[in-house]
Amino acid sequence: MPYSRPETRPPHSGLNLVAGEWTPAADGRRFERRNPADLSDLVGTFPDSSADDMAAAIAAVEEGAEEWAAASPERRAGVLEAAARWLEDRADELTVELVREEGKTRAEAAMETGRTPKNLRFYAGEALRITGRSYPADDGGLVYTRPEPVGVVGAITPWNFPLNIPSRKLGPALAAGNGVVFKPSPVTPLLAQRLVEALLAGGLPPRAIALVQGGAAPGAALAADPRVAAVTFTGSTEVGRAIHASVGPSRRVQLEMGGKNPVIVLDDADLDRAAQIIVKGAFGLGGQACTGTSRVIVHESVHDALLEKVVALAESRTVGNGLHDGVTMGPLAADFQLEKVLEYVRIGQDEGAKLVTGGARLDDASGYFVSPAVFTDVTPEMRIAREEIFGPVLAFQRVSGLDEAVALADATPYGLSAGIVTRDIERAFAFARRIRTGLVKINQPTTGMAMTVPFGGFKESSTQTFKEQAGDSMMLFYTQEKSVYLSP
Ligand code: NAD
Repeated sequence: MPYSRPETRPPHSGLNLVAGEWTPAADGRRFERRNPADLSDLVGTFPDSSADDMAAAIAAVEEGAEEWAAASPERRAGVLEAAARWLEDRADELTVELVREEGKTRAEAAMETGRTPKNLRFYAGEALRITGRSYPADDGGLVYTRPEPVGVVGAITPWNFPLNIPSRKLGPALAAGNGVVFKPSPVTPLLAQRLVEALLAGGLPPRAIALVQGGAAPGAALAADPRVAAVTFTGSTEVGRAIHASVGPSRRVQLEMGGKNPVIVLDDADLDRAAQIIVKGAFGLGGQACTGTSRVIVHESVHDALLEKVVALAESRTVGNGLHDGVTMGPLAADFQLEKVLEYVRIGQDEGAKLVTGGARLDDASGYFVSPAVFTDVTPEMRIAREEIFGPVLAFQRVSGLDEAVALADATPYGLSAGIVTRDIERAFAFARRIRTGLVKINQPTTGMAMTVPFGGFKESSTQTFKEQAGDSMMLFYTQEKSVYLSP
């Protein structure tokens, strides 16, 4: 089908937000962002910020956040609520921008543009629920606790949910009265800017937030700056480690990182259901979800039957531009994603695994399209069984029972999400007890989380310092508490 661009727009000319002003990088450098489904479509150009640009932004927020720190809970809640409405009013437009910028399908993008305002509303509610406690004291006096904002929060985010993940950081940080310096991924700068626009339109004092576009240089400068009291990061384990080291012991850090998420399929499973669960988790978002399924650990007695069903479903995916009707898997988001996925497909074959389907770049060179890949005969020491690929590549491993399955599921450095498909409640509960992951899914895909439930991994997937997404534990990360002693 010849490609005709459904939305023709002039490229966006993005800017940083520093000290309440939309501004370019000091040296004027810019980077381009192109639609990964149509490389002739220039989404926009954005400031390629330096460490100096970041330092200026941090200084401005440090100074500018006072008004916001002093704002009443009602005012903070009102701003988040109004920002949510701004996003909702533009949901259709934002959905198209998200498809163009990141490469999601329209349905996947609509889910994100629908969820983000709900997140902001959730944290608007949290702003109203911040309380201290009081304690009786010996002399008839009292001690009370005083929750306060921590100061400047640095938020560093990935590209795979460019509205949703930042809203789970900026929402609670602002609800608690902090100033925020936001460093989004250079893969999705436009949607990051839209979130900031929403907050400003909602009435956030413009000097309480800074947006600094660019890559590793401003990100590293943000993490390392002692004026930043708390750093919240979502991204790869490798970058998370570097951030952890630079934050040091006296500042707060929250890291949500990579995964290598397995689904165990036992011999009693409904195999049609299992195949649906696996394929949704593995190939939704083109496999570019931190909780995406990348391993299937299956009882040997049902291996062949399950493989056949999964392969049939993988081959039925329609890969293409997410704005086209009928497309069920978009492109990979960037050139580095395409190179990495094709490289791991080669690695899997070189290691002796059997590629049953997919793993090839599609003929359509207008974008970063690959067919969903399924490997079998994968053994635990192979790299495709241990390393995060973050793409549509699924590895089948055979086992002879639950004990072996759980041991194998646990045999990677990661501990984000793990699933089991079984009709046996006893074995499902044993799995939930024994597996070392922060999310456990019984008869559900490894992806997909409820908005109000704690979210975070174990092992090298998360610091587990504070869980994201759930209201009360989140707010603790963004507040600090004084104990005030008072005598009559
Ligand atoms: P990434 O780690 O490459 O980048 C994340 C962010 O860090 C980006 O804004 C990037 O510019 C910035 N950055 C890069 N180098 C930096 C440095 N040295 N110091 C400070 N900041 C730096 O990750 P990505 O490619 O954007 O996203 C994919 C990764 O994110 C995958 O590993 C995926 O599993 C993970 N992820 C995790 C979750 C989760 O909740 N656990 C959610 C989504 C994505």
